Amino acid sequence: MRAFSSHQFVLPLPPGHRFPMQKYALLQAELLARGVLQPGDVQPPHAATDAELAHAHAPGYVQRVAHNLLSDAELRRIGFPWSEAMVERSRRSTGATLDAARAALVDGVAANLAGGTHHACHDHGEGYCVFNDAAVTARLLLAEGAVRRVAVVDLDVHQGNGTAQICGQDTDVFTLSLHGERNFPFRKVASHLDVGLPDGTGDDDYLAALDPALAAVWDFEPDLIVYLAGADPHEDDTLGRLKLTLAGLAERDRRVLAGARERGIAVAVAMAGGYGRELATTVAVHLQTLTLAASLQAGWRVRRSLPA
Ligand SMILES: [Zn+2]
Repeated sequence: MRAFSSHQFVLPLPPGHRFPMQKYALLQAELLARGVLQPGDVQPPHAATDAELAHAHAPGYVQRVAHNLLSDAELRRIGFPWSEAMVERSRRSTGATLDAARAALVDGVAANLAGGTHHACHDHGEGYCVFNDAAVTARLLLAEGAVRRVAVVDLDVHQGNGTAQICGQDTDVFTLSLHGERNFPFRKVASHLDVGLPDGTGDDDYLAALDPALAAVWDFEPDLIVYLAGADPHEDDTLGRLKLTLAGLAERDRRVLAGARERGIAVAVAMAGGYGRELATTVAVHLQTLTLAASLQAGWRVRRSLPA
């Protein structure tokens, strides 16, 4: 399975910052050590250009990010200090989902080993999200005519408010967010389908809520799914408030990935959030998602009903 890694484009953070930047390098090391990915499978992504970002973001916002013109309030909302490296990392991580989507349209499934920055809105960033990789990817591939319909299946524990703000009214995008109702962001923006779960939701109730939501995705008949496989619904996540086990999350991934494969829908997987009490737990959740995706890649045939 092809995978796009931004781990060499590190975002410099002050000591004690809560964002678990180290998880990406650890995840990649585990994937290679276990043979889930071969070294040749992992590539650096392209840096998303201003023109690509403009499919989802206000050009003025992109310029403020690029040239260190964000206000203090805008930077506080993002949660990262500005640096050239922060801009490069954000461009690469967005480019990686686009690259993974293009690869998935050929190979069935491919991955961004980061991304899932779903709180980034049209003209501002928030919640550790600068640019919205899923929205840029969906909008750009639709504009190019590479796909007719795209679904964003957002199973991060936080609501995908940025994706909803950018794509929530599009008719050729279907945004699904299954999230903790009482969790950040506290002012939610309507997706095409939102499923808000109570605190403490466990495997059985989660999967029972997932099934009808996925049925709506299948009814939409997307050519491509951008899958935000957040690790933060896990029971040991410090921000998650839900109670899914590793086995429950594996079953979540299986229903998304095997369901898409069965229907000939390409899937670009992005990692999204994960703030485990132990970093190893977060890495383990992402690892099982990617292990399953890689194991399904052989023979994953994309339905060729796309426009000529
Ligand atoms: Zn999250």
